[in-house]
Amino acid sequence: MEEPAVAPVPEQNPPQETPELSVKETIKRMTGLQEKDRGLDRIKAQIAQAQTSADAIRRSIIEEQQAIESAKEQRKKLLLHHKTLEGDVAKIDGDINKHSGELRLVKTNEAYRALLTAIENLKKKKDDAETKILELMDELDLQQKRAKEAAAAMETHKKEKEDRAAQLDSEKGKLESLLEQAIQERAGLFAVFPPDVASRYERLRAKREGVAVAPVLEGASCGGCRMHLTPQMINEVIKAHEFVQCERCQRILYLPP
Ligand SMILES: [Zn+2]
Repeated sequence: MEEPAVAPVPEQNPPQETPELSVKETIKRMTGLQEKDRGLDRIKAQIAQAQTSADAIRRSIIEEQQAIESAKEQRKKLLLHHKTLEGDVAKIDGDINKHSGELRLVKTNEAYRALLTAIENLKKKKDDAETKILELMDELDLQQKRAKEAAAAMETHKKEKEDRAAQLDSEKGKLESLLEQAIQERAGLFAVFPPDVASRYERLRAKREGVAVAPVLEGASCGGCRMHLTPQMINEVIKAHEFVQCERCQRILYLPP
């Protein structure tokens, strides 16, 4: 006798893993996601702020160092100028001596007067050069005083500034760990939404300053843009059969608990 044919076992549908959320529950979770997203934005802003502050501090240290270096360069130039002027004075002295010696040798009054004029001119040049030397020495004194003050200020503040910058780095590091964690938590909150709802949330959030879901405020207005809402709209929000979006700002409306 033939064995009875075994009836094929019908394939079973896999169990539904994510039961569909009610509109009310979806919106409730959306507000949770939105809260998390705002937290993420705050952490990102804090990270950027810490980075900006640390950069500014480090830049100011570099600028102070550069100012000190350029003061040193300036001093070198002034010293060189001083040396040149002293050389000029020595040369003028030599010329004056030479002409004074020549005075005894000239034969004509005209040549004698010409030499005297030349000597007078040289003395005037020497006076000018010596005046410049004195001015330069004053400038060098003042410059040295300022350089000392700048170096002392640098000495005092550099460590302080470096410590502050390092502290900001460490705060930034902690914030980055927090951000990492928040991003993971956010992914968990986001994953419950069907793709169309998820993308609607993302679009609205991007367009509406990070606020996709807005409460109905007392006095029946939209918590996002303050537009007055009709009683019919409020009724629809209460019934929660489908998403109700503000006519002006398109944010999804909900009744606050
Ligand atoms: Zn609105």
